[in-house]
Amino acid sequence: MPDTPIKPNDLEAHWMPFTANRQFKAAPRMLVAAKDMHYTSHDGRQILDGTAGLWCCNAGHGRAPIVEAIQKQAALMDYAPPFQMGHPAAFELANRLSEISPDGMNHVFFTNSGSESVDTALKMALAYHKANGESSRTRFIGREKGYHGVGFGGISVGGLGNNRKQYGNQLPGTDHLPFFYDRNKQGFSKGEPTSGVEAAEALEQLVALHDASTIAAVIVEPMVGSAGVYITPTGYLQKLREICDKHGILLIFDEVITGFGRLGAAFAAEKYSVTPDMMTTAKGLNSGTVPMGAVFVQDKIYNTIVDAAAENMIELFHGYTYSAHPIAVAAALASQKLYKDEGLFERAAELAPYWQDAIHSLKDANHVVDIRNSGLVGGVELEARPGKPTARAYDVFVKAYEKGLLVRTTGDIIALSPPLIISKEQIDEIFGILRDTLAETN
Ligand code: PLP
Repeated sequence: MPDTPIKPNDLEAHWMPFTANRQFKAAPRMLVAAKDMHYTSHDGRQILDGTAGLWCCNAGHGRAPIVEAIQKQAALMDYAPPFQMGHPAAFELANRLSEISPDGMNHVFFTNSGSESVDTALKMALAYHKANGESSRTRFIGREKGYHGVGFGGISVGGLGNNRKQYGNQLPGTDHLPFFYDRNKQGFSKGEPTSGVEAAEALEQLVALHDASTIAAVIVEPMVGSAGVYITPTGYLQKLREICDKHGILLIFDEVITGFGRLGAAFAAEKYSVTPDMMTTAKGLNSGTVPMGAVFVQDKIYNTIVDAAAENMIELFHGYTYSAHPIAVAAALASQKLYKDEGLFERAAELAPYWQDAIHSLKDANHVVDIRNSGLVGGVELEARPGKPTARAYDVFVKAYEKGLLVRTTGDIIALSPPLIISKEQIDEIFGILRDTLAETN
C-alpha cells in the first residue's frame, strides 16, 4: 500500500499513454506490487496476470535471479556510454542472443523499446541497399492492421487507422499488404488458419505496381498482436519469404511480442521455419524489467554496411544514449539464463494444447464470435454493442479486474498472453473468471 492515500485530484499531471485519461482518472486502477503470476492492487487484492504485464514479463514477476542481477549491476556500474566505448556484458549478451537466433543472424543492435527497434531496422534496410549500390530501394511495405510501435517509421509501416487519423502517413511511398483474416473462413481456428495464404501473394501485385527496384523491405508481425491476436495462415510467412527472395527485398519480422518464447519457440521465425533478414524485439528480452529492445541482423547486412564505410568512419549513423544500458543488459542476461534454466520456451510449447482447449471452451460463452490462439497467446473476439465499438470489451476488462484477473482489450477483442510460468490451475482460473464475467456482461 502507498504511504499516502491516492486522491483523485493527484492524478492530473501524469498524461497516461494509450489511455482514456478522463475515464481512468475518474475510477483509477493502480498496481503496487508484483510477484510470480500476480499483481497486488492498491486496495490489497491479488490480481492474476493474464497478460504478462503488456506481453512482456515472460518469466513472471519479481524473479529473484533477475532482481539480484539488476541490484548488483546498479551498484557496480550504473551507466557506460555506448558510442566508441563498450562494457563486456553487452558483448556477452549479443553472443548469448546469437545462440538462440536463426542461422546467420549473428549481429545484434540494442535499443530501448520495440518502437526504436522497428525504426532502427528500417534505417538498416535503407543503409544496406545504399551500401549495396541500390539506393533507389527506399520504399517499405507493411500490412493492414500491423502494429510496429509509435515512431514515425513504425506508424507509417503499421496499418492502424487511428494512426492515420491523428498523424497522417509520415513515410511517403509506404504501401501495405492486405489483411489475411476472414472470419467466415477462419473463425474458431485452432492455431494457424488453413486458409488465407493468398493474402501473401498480394506482395507480387505491389511489386508489379511499384517495381522491385524501389522496395527496400517488407515488415510484418509473424502473429498480429496488438491489433487483436490474429494468427498468420499456414504457409503465409513462407510465401512472403519466397517473394522477397525473388525480388531482392529484405524481410523483417517484428517479433516484439512473439520473441522469447510466446509461441512456444525462441522466435516465431523458429516456430515457422522461416528466416527473415532482420528481427525486431523488445519486451521479453529482459522479461519486461528494464526498458530494452534489440534488432537481430543477418551477417550479410552487417557485413555489407560495415564494409562499405571508409576506414575509421562510423558505419551506421544511429544509436541511443541508452543502447546496451548496463542495467538492462544485466537484466537480459539473467532473464535469458532463467528462460534456459527453467526451459520456459519449451514449457510454453508443452502447455499450448491445454491452453488451446481452455480458450476454445469459451466458444459458447456470451457474446463470443471468434477465438484465436497460438503458443501461450489467445484472442477472444466479442460481438460489438451496436453503435458502440469497444464498450463491451472494456466492461469485461474492468469486471475481470474486479474479480482478480488482468486481461487486455483491443477493440472488442480480449487479448491474453500470460507469463510462461503459468500453471494449468491458473489457466483454468483465467477462463473460469472470463466465462463468469461474460455471462454478467450485457
Ligand atoms: N512492435 C510490435 C509488434 C509490438 O507489439 C509493439 C508493442 O506492443 C511494438 C512494436 C512497440 O514496442 P514499444 O511499446 O516497446 O515501443
